[in-house]
Amino acid sequence: MKTMQTKSQQFSSILTLRGLDRKYSQWSNALNNFTESDVKGALSSQPGVYRPEKLMVLVSPAARGHLEQMAQLAHQLTVQRFGKTIKLYVPLYLSNYCSSSCRYCGFNVDNKIERKRLTIEEALEQADIIANEGFRDILLVSSEDRNYITVEYLCELSKQLRKKFSCVSIEVYQMTAAEYSELFAAGIEGVTLYQETYDRDVYKYYHPAGLKTDYGQRLNVADDMAAAGMREIGLGALLGLADWRVETLALGEHAHYLMKRYWQSHISISFPRIRPASHVDGQQFEHLLSDKDMVQMMLALRLCFADVGLVLSTREPASLRDNMVSLGITRMSAGSKTSPGGYCKTEHALEQFDVNDSRSASQIAEMLRERGLDAVWKDWDCGFIDNK
Ligand code: SF4
Repeated sequence: MKTMQTKSQQFSSILTLRGLDRKYSQWSNALNNFTESDVKGALSSQPGVYRPEKLMVLVSPAARGHLEQMAQLAHQLTVQRFGKTIKLYVPLYLSNYCSSSCRYCGFNVDNKIERKRLTIEEALEQADIIANEGFRDILLVSSEDRNYITVEYLCELSKQLRKKFSCVSIEVYQMTAAEYSELFAAGIEGVTLYQETYDRDVYKYYHPAGLKTDYGQRLNVADDMAAAGMREIGLGALLGLADWRVETLALGEHAHYLMKRYWQSHISISFPRIRPASHVDGQQFEHLLSDKDMVQMMLALRLCFADVGLVLSTREPASLRDNMVSLGITRMSAGSKTSPGGYCKTEHALEQFDVNDSRSASQIAEMLRERGLDAVWKDWDCGFIDNK
């Protein structure tokens, strides 16, 4: 326990030392002062190697006129490291009951919406539909429904799913190192958990009640996943809550910190952009990103992190996803339903957010083929390791 606290304090101290955990506005001058020559310098340095100053230059307004060159470099680097492939995964929503009050989310405990939880049998029925479409990589998603979607539930479900799926990962509430170890032993090898925002004050505002109120505790969780042996660790900020440029700098530090310490875990970064959701006031978000902002963010991260996975979900429009598949993205969801039971036509529980790209998995695979890319449905088998 003492070791874990020390580790978490390390990252917390790094963020504080770098001035990335609050008052994002103080970065405006520094970011606005970069020049063309700074951008040319950053683009002539070795692609894929991280330096905090380089990431700052690449997300700065001065780099905006260089997106074409950044895209070419990102493309070359991604093909070099990942080949001409995109991994496909699908989310399976297990519950939309939630004990938290995140102001940006339709599943917020205070919202009077239709709620649904899947029994393990119902979840397996949904999984069969998904498996029949060809998927072998499944992401189990749940709101903070700790009393029903328990560790035992997830372990039991995972053991069943491993008969059909080569990769089972989760995006649920934050857990302890011991709980992650249990899940890992049951065949769950990847965890995604977004910090939502690295700005402490903004974090506090958007998380007024529930398990997520503790910023520092959430910041520590990736250390616990790595300590449990998780093969895939997914990071992300909910884009739209705070200045995306500074959020990218904090994400870069987080990825760098984890990669330096936990070589056995592969780090990936997702780009969840705020989408319209039921019962959520869309006017409250002052930092919404344009498509161009998103593209710059992804390219900047790729040019600083050669081996980090970059993930784009169906929150994003088809046109943006189609363009980004050649420029750095390594994994994308397809055919997603964001409500529990959504893969059965008769179910009508509320979605967490509106899906923007509603194409089927086979349509996505066809789009990839047309762009000279292979859709990867399975890139891992439990037979590769001894203990499974
Ligand atoms: S973001 Fe997650 S924890 Fe927060 S209200 Fe939505 S489902 Fe619940």
